[in-house]
This record gives sequence, C-alpha cells and structure tokens, in this order.
Amino acid sequence: MSTSPRTLHRLLYRSRQTPETAADLDFAVRQIIGTAIRCNREAGLTGLLLTAQGHFIQALEGNIDAVRGAYARISMDPRHHDLQIFSQGPAERRLFGEWNMCASSLAPSDKSILAVLDGKGDFNPKALTATSALRLLTTVADIQRRTALSALVG
Ligand code: FAD
Repeated sequence: MSTSPRTLHRLLYRSRQTPETAADLDFAVRQIIGTAIRCNREAGLTGLLLTAQGHFIQALEGNIDAVRGAYARISMDPRHHDLQIFSQGPAERRLFGEWNMCASSLAPSDKSILAVLDGKGDFNPKALTATSALRLLTTVADIQRRTALSALVG
C-alpha cells in the first residue's frame, strides 16, 4: 500500500461495544470487517481491529483525509460508544500494511500479550495508554503474521 511517508497518518482509539454488539460479537465483527475492508481498500487505508473484554481497539493508517473521514463515520456507528482516541498524527511507515482491516480477539488472560504489556493480573483495556495500545496492536499483528506463515508452511 503506497502513501508518501510525508502524508501518512495513524490514529488509534478504543471504544466500548454496545450490549447488542457484544451479544453476538462474531456476527457484528464479520459485518464490520466486510464493510471496512471494502471501504478501506478504496480509501487506501490499512489497520487492525482488536476485540477485548467488551471493547474495540483499532488502528487506522493512511492519508490524513481518509483516516479522518473513516473515523468520522466510525464514531457515528451505533454498534459502539465511548470512543477515546489514544493517539493520532504523522507516521513514518505503515505498521499494518498487509491488511485493509484485520480483526483479532484477545482473551482476558492471554499470557503472551500480558508479558508484552508488563501487565499484572488480567488484561484491562481501560488501563491502556497511547504507547501500550500501539504495542498491543503491533504484537497482535506479529502473531497474525506468524500464524499466517505457519498455516502456509504447515
Ligand atoms: P452506511 O453503511 O450507509 O450505514 C448508515 C449508518 O448505519 C452508519 O451510521 C452505520 O455506522 C450504521 N450501520 C451500518 N451497519 C450497521 C449495522 N449492522 N448495525 C447497526 N448500525 C449499522 N468502516 C470503515 O470504512 N473502515 C473501518 O476501518 C471501519 N472500522 C470499524 C470499526 C468499528 C469498531 C465499527 C463499529 C465500525 C467500523 N466501520 C468501519 C464501519 C463504519 O462505522 C461504517 O458503518 C462504514 O464505514 C459505512 O459507513 P456509511 O456512512 O456508508 O454507513
């Protein structure tokens, strides 16, 4: 996915799933991802969407206008609420460049993730900071890449 480094923008946010979304999360995520992949491909956006303990945590990267346009639509979506932006600004390179959008889920006690976040006890999405949220998403992206690779090799 090519976007000049000078214009590349990344936005990270978290939100809370509504009870209706959480009640059938697989269905909701399938619908969201279907739309997201189609729209993001057209807009040159890439990113990752994580579901964890009633929350969404998402990274969007691409042209600044495309990122802001997508986030404006996403923030109006009734399937979630209480959106909180962790960070947004220029980025040197894409961190999720393989995926127009990729969904992954996180169990509360996922040991490999907790180790990365230096967490004590269960993973708590509300305790994330801009730095730890980015570390979390890049770690999940690495796991996705390894899983895809081992599926190809195996
Ligand atoms: P339309 O498809 O015309 O829908 C009109 C309204 O209904 C919008 O407010 C829409 O949000 C809402 N809506 C659509 N489907 C449903 C449904 N099944 N149940 C309830 N309300 C619905 N879109 C992207 O383009 N890129 C992304 O990366 C992306 N990530 C998302 C992440 C999350 C956590 C969520 C909840 C949504 C995401 N979306 C994403 C979807 C986004 O919110 C819009 O639905 C989508 O971009 C289409 O926008 P639209 O204005 O064409 O809405």
